[in-house]
Amino acid sequence: MPELPEVETTKNGLLPLIKHEIVHRAIRHRENLRWEIPKHLPTTLANQLVLDIHRRAKYLLIRFEVGTLIIHLGMSGSIKVVDSSAPLLKHDHFELQFENNTAMRLNDPRRFGAVLFSKDGSHKLLDSLGVEPLEALFDESYLYIKSRNKQQNIKAFIMDSKVVVGVGNIYACESLFTSGISPERKAGSISKKRYAQLTQTIKTILKQSIKAGGTTLQDFSQVDGQPGYFTQTLSVYGRENKLCDACGGIIARIIQNQRSTFYCKSCQS
Ligand SMILES: [Zn+2]
Repeated sequence: MPELPEVETTKNGLLPLIKHEIVHRAIRHRENLRWEIPKHLPTTLANQLVLDIHRRAKYLLIRFEVGTLIIHLGMSGSIKVVDSSAPLLKHDHFELQFENNTAMRLNDPRRFGAVLFSKDGSHKLLDSLGVEPLEALFDESYLYIKSRNKQQNIKAFIMDSKVVVGVGNIYACESLFTSGISPERKAGSISKKRYAQLTQTIKTILKQSIKAGGTTLQDFSQVDGQPGYFTQTLSVYGRENKLCDACGGIIARIIQNQRSTFYCKSCQS
């Protein structure tokens, strides 16, 4: 599943290729993904200049004078930029063809992704999102204040997109391990000092992943595989019953909020 680093990498890859290009045609190759792809897009986006591209959480925001195209990659989505005469691939569901004869195509086999539009850039999906993990606002004071009186476990807390966006299951497991915090600990019982360690770790892991993704996307205009998903060495995730690299103990797996959690009982408390 594309996580925040893949979406950031996609945004960075798209910027030099489509920013300031003019849309020749917007084409819906099917009517709906997770939701309907707005019918008006071919009319609305024709002859529009791409002003800029941003990322918010796992949403790509492509800004035009008339409004913002909001794209989510869902479970299996990927975007590439190709020559507009290139044959369409199976699962290419939406595209923007540009006047320079290139096309940005959204491929999504499982169709949990989304293509939406907002005139003023706001959208109900974006309204309730928490802070961005790589921004300065995300620090120990933020998590400390936000977590007071919370009975919720720390893993669910950092995966809650109303608190902070983009901390997926792998990132949550790995950053709790590196910070030495048990995933079963209540968010409200964690000290500010430990939150300082945790926020730093989350930032570092996400940045490393963005960097790794960046190298696999160098060939962005021709890429037709999946962008660089989590390529870092994993300390605990997916390593049930294997030995902990730090202490030689056994990595455990438990279920929390219907998701697998991997951790080391001796290293994390
Ligand atoms: Zn250990």
